[in-house]
Amino acid sequence: MKTTNTKLYSNLINGNWHPPGTDVLENHNPADYNEVIGFFPMATLEDTKQAIDSARAALPAWSKIPAPTRGAILDKASQILTSRLDEIATALTREEGKTLAEAKGEVTRARDIFKYYAGEGWRIGGEVLPSSVTDELLYTRREPLGVVSIITPWNFPIAIPAWKIAPALIYGNTIVFKPAEDAPHTALLLVEVLVEAGLPAGVINFLTGDGALIGTEMTSNPNVNGISFTGSHNTGTKIYQNAIKNMARVQLEMGGKNALVVLKDADLELAVKLAITGGFGLTGQACTATSRIIVQEEIAEAFVSALTTAAKNLKLGNGLESGTNMGPLVNQDQLQTSQNYMALGQKEGATLLLGGEVDGTKGYFAQATIFDHVQPTMRIAQEEIFGPVISIIRASGLNDAIEKANAISFGLSASVVTNNLREAFAFANQIEAGVVKINEPTTGLALNAPFGGFKQSSANTFKEQGQAAMDFYTRTKTIYVNHG
Ligand code: ADP
Repeated sequence: MKTTNTKLYSNLINGNWHPPGTDVLENHNPADYNEVIGFFPMATLEDTKQAIDSARAALPAWSKIPAPTRGAILDKASQILTSRLDEIATALTREEGKTLAEAKGEVTRARDIFKYYAGEGWRIGGEVLPSSVTDELLYTRREPLGVVSIITPWNFPIAIPAWKIAPALIYGNTIVFKPAEDAPHTALLLVEVLVEAGLPAGVINFLTGDGALIGTEMTSNPNVNGISFTGSHNTGTKIYQNAIKNMARVQLEMGGKNALVVLKDADLELAVKLAITGGFGLTGQACTATSRIIVQEEIAEAFVSALTTAAKNLKLGNGLESGTNMGPLVNQDQLQTSQNYMALGQKEGATLLLGGEVDGTKGYFAQATIFDHVQPTMRIAQEEIFGPVISIIRASGLNDAIEKANAISFGLSASVVTNNLREAFAFANQIEAGVVKINEPTTGLALNAPFGGFKQSSANTFKEQGQAAMDFYTRTKTIYVNHG
């Protein structure tokens, strides 16, 4: 029997809240899918056009507000996020599944991102260049890009929107924001916080519903100047094709197949800790998750045995219950995908050391799974799984490990565990990934550092986060002033 509080949630267009019509998006708890969280609007094409028009209309006034004043609104949003941290983290766990500790970490990150970009309002600068002409001032000015479409996935339902929305706002853009179908509630709470913080009507518009319908309009409407997207490669490719027709700027982040390389002189305990954090943290549902571990032969047996023992102790369960180390997957599709790869790994001839089963009777639970003796060409070593499945590949030494790590189409994140400085730097220089870690997990990012992948992981256009976000969210004007 379904338990439901029949709560109806609204969309925001031009400062007005629009409740759902007869067609609704149902949101439920992945740890207990009989628990209905609420119902969200299925935005129509007309709603989407109105949202874009409203962002366009709000642009001139918003972009003229001094950036430090815009920053004060972001700072206020950061304060509200602090006061509502527990409430939002609980809502996040309830709709997405990650543990409450992970959810609190994520809301804290969103809070910090707003604080960071509030300060950036004081630092948006241009350049003054030497002129080749007497009595000429030559300088550049950063202007907002314009109306931006922000399309986000469900796996970080507040951190990813925060690292796209906060820079968009501080640099003077207006927004149409569409979260993923599986995590609209956390996104709505963030929008509520921004409204409460004093964002004027039309500066952010919020739409829920069918991703393909709303998303196609958000990426092909000629009134949209930029699109920031995180999600699957398939959708990212469609978005790029839509955007090019209007020469809209794109920023696309699209997955990974990240390797943790464990070399023979690694601190074994640390290597195991990093493998657990990167591979099974967030139930493996992170684009920077560790899905391949490439281990040097000399320590492979010791490492594999210690990793298996540690992974056995992980408690799988409802993320809201204390003691849970790993929550459920987000939906039935993700459960099915993990289950398919668990079966495929065995069919391809890898050795199943741990897990390999899913339980979908109440929620979408998948066991922490480890495959050993995986060959780099196997599909489980090549394709993104987005679940708690680790493939262990053996390597003869550093060069072999780098070659195997690079033998994929993705290039998002990679890490090496070693106490050998020479090998650590050789790895950092030769690995094909936009994020490289040494003795740290493949997951986890600094909010003030550029983030983005190489190869098929990204559109290879603009990085996100930190000051790199300014390049995406602004356009540069060059001004020549002859004052002679
Ligand atoms: P995932 O497989 O992780 O759900 P998707 O790429 O399907 O990844 O989803 C990421 C985001 O893209 C979601 O907000 C989804 O609704 C949206 N989306 C889905 N289809 C389209 C599309 N055709 N155009 C734009 N956005 C889309």
